[in-house]
Amino acid sequence: MTTAALATEQLTHEQKLDRLAEVAVRVGLGLERGQELVMTASLDALPLARRITEHAYRAGASLVTTLFSDDETALMRYKFASDESFDRAPAWLYDGMGTAFRSGAARLAIAGANPSLLSNEDPDKVGRANRAVSKAYRPALELITRHEINWTIVASATPAWAAAMFPNDTLEVALAKLWDAIFASSRVDTEDPVAAWKTHDAGLHKRAAYLNEKRYSALQYRGPGTDFRLGLADDHLWLGGGTTAGNGAYCIPNMPTEEVFSTPHKDRADGVVTATKPLSHQGTMIEGIQVRFEAGRIVEAKATKGQEVLQKLIDTDDGARRLGEVALVPHSSPIAASGLLFFNTLFDENAACHIALGQAYSSCLIDGDKLTPEQLAAKGANDSLIHVDWMIGSDKLDIDGITAYGATEPLMRRGEWV
Ligand code: ZN
Ligand code: ZN
Repeated sequence: MTTAALATEQLTHEQKLDRLAEVAVRVGLGLERGQELVMTASLDALPLARRITEHAYRAGASLVTTLFSDDETALMRYKFASDESFDRAPAWLYDGMGTAFRSGAARLAIAGANPSLLSNEDPDKVGRANRAVSKAYRPALELITRHEINWTIVASATPAWAAAMFPNDTLEVALAKLWDAIFASSRVDTEDPVAAWKTHDAGLHKRAAYLNEKRYSALQYRGPGTDFRLGLADDHLWLGGGTTAGNGAYCIPNMPTEEVFSTPHKDRADGVVTATKPLSHQGTMIEGIQVRFEAGRIVEAKATKGQEVLQKLIDTDDGARRLGEVALVPHSSPIAASGLLFFNTLFDENAACHIALGQAYSSCLIDGDKLTPEQLAAKGANDSLIHVDWMIGSDKLDIDGITAYGATEPLMRRGEWV
């Protein structure tokens, strides 16, 4: 990297932004020469989108196409559109993205949404609009959840997001604080960000390999408001860090990433789980989530705030009431150590152990990418239009691994690896 020789504290904001873009393209996306890139970004993320575009072309991209979104125009729909509007989604657009992915394009999303953009809108309309998008996007999204293409998500600070995180600061200070957190957790303020990512990636792979060797049949969680046993899918595989996508490119799908994750068994979750952080879901906040599982299915769901949105979410389809991901993150992860609450899943899920409602990643099963939907279901992999991560980890959470023979082994104590 051109700026690697500089001491990191000497780097200007522009230089750090440039490093973030370079790391996103080279390490996160692993963009290959001649590949097309489809990027999505908010207009507030324009400076980072431009840097990424530059680095993508420098890395040999054949074409970069960015779809920009805008909060104000998104709100106008809720204000002025007819009721029928909320069952619609631009299927042609998602079909086109699917076509692009199938013909070799990579996918990059810039995260940075206003966490409560839609908080004051009608939950019914929000729920219907989300469902319509999930349905229309599904065929294209499947290529991503099956890891058939290289993809990644990186973050840009945006005014609304920064203001939500730092309500007591001026906007300028809030933005600076959020950028600092993004640069630090994305490892671009280290001497050599590419080398730092290689080391970190190797550490996550080592942790996943340890769990794969153990082949636990279930995990037992105990903490405040949580007493929960979660079965793991047959032939489940723990993953962490980068993966080689079906198209041969090596990518690290989330920047930052601190998790090792796998596929739980959709019929084997029992007990009560309490969320340890609020969940920002598509512009609405859901707080104080507590759910009870029986044989894998949510039979009771409460939230102190956003109960209606939560209810709509789990009513999306049968799989929306079941789990599709289990992820372990130590409480000492750099993002957790920052003590910040991001109201953004990309960050908050990497600060705490979490589980996800909905669609499972078939790549988290041995040879999962070669299995039919029926074979995946038989092994316990869940199927749904949604995939929503929510945080259940804290410094008070204990997790045991249950072996195939029913023996119990301590895995995490007070949120840390044993
Ligand atoms: Zn996760
Ligand atoms: Zn997830």
